[in-house]
Amino acid sequence: MTMDLTFLGTGSAYPSPHRGASALVLRTEGECWLFDCGEGTQTQLMKSQLRASRITKVFISHLHGDHLFGLPGLLCTVSLQTNPNPTQALPCLDIYGPTGLRKYLRVTLGLTGSQLIFPYAVHELETLPDQSPPEGQLSFEMTSESGALHPQEQLGRRVSLDVSTDCYMLFQDKRFVVKAFRLFHRVPSFGFCVQEHDRPGRLNTELLKELGLNPGPQYGRLKAGEPVTLENGRVLLSGEVMEEAIPGRKICILGDCSAIVGDGPLKACHRADILVHEATLADEQQEKAVEHGHSTPKMAAAVALACVAQKLVLYHFSQRYKPCALQKEGDDDDILLLKRQAEDALQGSGVDVTLAEDFLTLAIPLKRLSLRYPINGLHDIETHSIIA
Ligand SMILES: [Zn+2]
Ligand SMILES: [Zn+2]
Repeated sequence: MTMDLTFLGTGSAYPSPHRGASALVLRTEGECWLFDCGEGTQTQLMKSQLRASRITKVFISHLHGDHLFGLPGLLCTVSLQTNPNPTQALPCLDIYGPTGLRKYLRVTLGLTGSQLIFPYAVHELETLPDQSPPEGQLSFEMTSESGALHPQEQLGRRVSLDVSTDCYMLFQDKRFVVKAFRLFHRVPSFGFCVQEHDRPGRLNTELLKELGLNPGPQYGRLKAGEPVTLENGRVLLSGEVMEEAIPGRKICILGDCSAIVGDGPLKACHRADILVHEATLADEQQEKAVEHGHSTPKMAAAVALACVAQKLVLYHFSQRYKPCALQKEGDDDDILLLKRQAEDALQGSGVDVTLAEDFLTLAIPLKRLSLRYPINGLHDIETHSIIA
């Protein structure tokens, strides 16, 4: 199954001609999940290879405008471009985000008289006081909902923190488990972890043939985890001839933050294949960054190290940093400096650092497992994994 991640906006605070506001898309087999939706995301989508109509889920990290102002407009445009199907109801668009998001959408769509052709549901994550300074917490009055639902709105869930994992379980399907975890920012912020299920290993048919077992019903029994008896009377266990499961891919996308909160982020992001972390300002401006609830490359690198991530992708840059292609010699604010600072902090760790740019697409290849079996026996199976 192919998977890739496309950055539609990599700037902080507002969209500019050279950097869109925060938005990125995880695409799997034609289905798109949108993470954050800053102002202008719909035009960024139109400029990209992606199709807005393929968006089936939306995740909003926090309620700051540079991550959210684009959502009502995007929903309306997708609705305009969707053909009604008289014989089949359109699927519900699931939207996940902090408490307050449901009211925001209901009021915005309601006051503007916006009708959608498809239903939507907002599943709200309960925010906690340790996710922001007190002034960043929304009061009950601010988030409380009254009155009727929007005509196309379906009832969403209220998702609470699971204290045993320190994470929020958003959903799981046959391909993925998706969780959220807490971050510290000027307003409560979240990160998201998309974990693909492991793929079951395959039967080592070469080894089976060596053992004199030809394709047939016994293969099916071994695949199902049952033992079979060989002609020589030896009982062959399924685990001896099944290759190990191929680990699923893990992509973690963190919203704005100056720190992670609790054990949840490190547990969820452990051994992430890709960790997307903000780096709004350079290390020299750490004090200012933290004061505004943001991170520097060194801070992002520390999270990547603690998670044992394979690849760190930096994004959400101050608009002062132009994309590499637009930089001129002598520019004061060099985006490559941010990369170097993260690399310096990660020296010797093997963690790869990538600077996100608008419209950058990162392929996320399948992991592979190769097994070597000793010819003379079935013991001491050696395994090593290779990232393709
Ligand atoms: Zn932001
Ligand atoms: Zn923010």
